[in-house]
Amino acid sequence: MANLFSYWEQKSFLSGYDVIIIGSGIVGLSASLYLKLKQPSLKIGVLESGFLPSGASTKNAGFACFGSVSELINELKSKPEDEILSMIDMRWRGLEKLRNNLGDSAICFEQSGGFEVFKTNENHLANQCIDKISWFNSFLKPVIGKHDIYSVSYDKIAESGMSGISNIIKNKYEGQIDTGKMMLALLSKVQGMGVAVFNNCQVQKIEEGLGNKIISSNQGDFKAKSVILATNAFSKDLVPELDVNPGRGQVLITEPIKNLKINGSFHYNEGYTYFRNINGRILLGGGRNLDFKGEETTEPGISVIVQHELEKLLYETILPGQKPLIEHRWSGVMGFGKELKPIVKQISPGLFCAVRCNGMGVAMGSLLGEQVAELIQV
Ligand SMILES: Cc1cc2nc3c(=O)[nH]c(=O)nc-3n(C[C@H](O)[C@H](O)[C@H](O)COP(=O)(O)OP(=O)(O)OC[C@H]3O[C@@H](n4cnc5c(N)ncnc54)[C@H](O)[C@@H]3O)c2cc1C
Repeated sequence: MANLFSYWEQKSFLSGYDVIIIGSGIVGLSASLYLKLKQPSLKIGVLESGFLPSGASTKNAGFACFGSVSELINELKSKPEDEILSMIDMRWRGLEKLRNNLGDSAICFEQSGGFEVFKTNENHLANQCIDKISWFNSFLKPVIGKHDIYSVSYDKIAESGMSGISNIIKNKYEGQIDTGKMMLALLSKVQGMGVAVFNNCQVQKIEEGLGNKIISSNQGDFKAKSVILATNAFSKDLVPELDVNPGRGQVLITEPIKNLKINGSFHYNEGYTYFRNINGRILLGGGRNLDFKGEETTEPGISVIVQHELEKLLYETILPGQKPLIEHRWSGVMGFGKELKPIVKQISPGLFCAVRCNGMGVAMGSLLGEQVAELIQV
């Protein structure tokens, strides 16, 4: 019987890989980048189930951020200080790596600041956060290397034209990127280094072969010495014992707005809701906390409950008196677990994973890619 693949295809496209990476998000592509930097002659393939990456890396808000004060206060209630510090360190170092790997202009990086906003009925929380600013500035100094990270920014309230906001805390070292350009730049960089990326290629199982791994997909079987899972929210499909649960994030973007005053990356409600300017528009997302159960899904989609709250925030608080059209809505899916720390480890001989950025993979993703690449002996 004729084989679907030719002899040439079998030899050059499907087998002989040193490493196969499953998932072409920021972590998977970064892993391929660091493996190639370590050993340029490695034969590396990346298998991606979607036509485009279908998790979070091309769907996110593009915040280059590492933590808002209320989020950190909340995390410190249940986690030790050294765990929080190491998480901030990972976010900060990850961002530096992303910028160094691709260059600020390719990813449209702007250090326009991160701003945590508090509504007038949240003065109690705002005061609690403001009282802790100098403590957090000292706490984070060892990892960020600056002493003046957070400050109160009353000027921004008037400047941004928002309504019902009584306090803003600025993080001057946060910024924003263009997510689409970042992922295109990363993809073209690794392809230029010889990494083969296959789309519409969903991995169904990974088995032991004779001296290698057999990676079965809807397109056929691939063979490789080592496999890296960079499958984030979808990881349990392949390795059920991994503590990674999906959390969907919904996003909307407005039409261009004349004389838009909002400039920078804004966090609200312990980071559960976020908005920014991009190309004269407002991008607004989050609201997962309104329906944790409903959003614990890998299914793309939007829900009335979340979209209604996002629109309310948009029209009443962010752009009072204006009613720009919402041009586009979408969703992406993140990977969360009990611990904040991502999982970067060897699962079994020849099988590795780098998953669970807990919704902060723009920041951490490049570092995770480097860490998992370091685990592989070449
Ligand atoms: C709406 C939203 C907003 C966000 N905003 C920010 C932000 O502003 N700043 C920030 O730092 N982070 C943000 N994040 C989080 C960030 O985008 C993620 O943490 C990061 O993209 C995770 O990267 P990843 O490579 O681990 O996973 P993903 O990008 O999810 O990549 C995993 C890939 O694996 C593929 N895959 C899964 N299973 C298989 C299989 N069996 N076979 C083949 N392929 C498979 C998937 O299709 C997917 O493309 C946001 C996320 C969302 C959803």
